[in-house]
Amino acid sequence: MKPVVQARLQPGDTIGVLGGGQLGRMMAHAAQAMGLSVVVLDPQADGPAAQVAQGLVQTAYDDPAGWTQLAERVQAVTTEFENVPAQALQALAELKPVSPSAHSVAIAQDRAAEKAHFQSCGVPVAPHAVLHREADFSQLSDALFPGILKTTRMGYDGKGQARVLTRADLPAAWQSLQAHTPTPVSCVLEAQLPLAWECSVVLARSREGHSVCLPVQRNWHRHGILAVTEVGEGAVPGDMAHALVQAALAVAKGLQHVGVLCVEFFVLQEGPWQRELGTWVVNEIAPRPHNSGHHSMDSCDLSQFDLQVRCAAGWPLTPPRQHSAAVMLNLLGDVWQNAAGQWREPDWSGILALPGAHLHLYGKREAKLGRKMGHLTFTAATLEQARAQALQAAAILGIEPW
Ligand code: ATP
Ligand code: MG
Repeated sequence: MKPVVQARLQPGDTIGVLGGGQLGRMMAHAAQAMGLSVVVLDPQADGPAAQVAQGLVQTAYDDPAGWTQLAERVQAVTTEFENVPAQALQALAELKPVSPSAHSVAIAQDRAAEKAHFQSCGVPVAPHAVLHREADFSQLSDALFPGILKTTRMGYDGKGQARVLTRADLPAAWQSLQAHTPTPVSCVLEAQLPLAWECSVVLARSREGHSVCLPVQRNWHRHGILAVTEVGEGAVPGDMAHALVQAALAVAKGLQHVGVLCVEFFVLQEGPWQRELGTWVVNEIAPRPHNSGHHSMDSCDLSQFDLQVRCAAGWPLTPPRQHSAAVMLNLLGDVWQNAAGQWREPDWSGILALPGAHLHLYGKREAKLGRKMGHLTFTAATLEQARAQALQAAAILGIEPW
């Protein structure tokens, strides 16, 4: 069947969102500000997005009855969750305009397909090999050690990964990743690269193929989870930022992506890998708004969620203008635990007394270690000023400086 006619939405229309987490919640806020309604499909009744949406279809993501119910209530569909079955997007595309497409999501869901796509766009990637079974181990090049073994599918926030120092460690690492899945999973073994730092590009691409970008963000990860993002003059050298944006646009165009797309990059330390690969390589993509773009709600005149809504609605895109430098701190559940290990509410009054603080909490009922509960963005005239405030907040919250 052919996809449906891509009509532009009107205020009063409704967008359907697959997934009920914080990204859906922030997108719902943006949609509602523009006079649109939101219906969320999520198995959970009171998730972050369901709390603010006008409607909820409470089914599993792979339940075709849920897809039909959603399609009946909305004029367009998007997703906030990239592990939604690509099949769901395909089926919905026969009923309503869907962005991103099942194709974009299917590529982003599979690290092997994703890396092949980057290479087909002429964008450098970490040296890697795809492993389907233990028999494949013998063909691996020594250059991939030390490496990181990653499941091709369903990884996020550093989950589904194991460090592999030497070839001898590979069987145990393979078994540890297989132990968490009912059926055998393919993996990618990537060389562990010496990273100087990490950054990302968040862009939006319209149905007509017009793209706009947020400023390039510099990111700090801890235990595989984003901890801090900085954006503003001095965060990323200008010539590198330009090259990264060009690479990100090529990746988006190659996918014929519609919607927001985040492209994550590794910048390499000087040394043999940098001489072989160049200054940077692409890590992975997310076919949706990304944690590293959350600052845009407070630092830019258009946020990544405004852009996602415009894409889903078929509305025009204009380049976001950054009006403030910004530093974003992720608020993991760990922040709810004091030094003695007791759970308590953090000192929000102390935080909000700092100039330039923008507190975002996602309405999750229970804090857990490693769980993304919210984020805190500091805006200021310069990056140094935003960082000084963010460091004070980090000290209050017990977050390590970066
Ligand atoms: P997320 O969902 O948070 O983006 P993820 O589970 O998809 O994470 P990756 O982005 O693959 O995982 O890896 C998480 C982090 O681990 C990276 O941001 C980087 O800090 C580190 N890392 C991953 N791969 C490599 C590599 N090949 N060399 C060096 N460091 C790496
Ligand atoms: Mg990542």
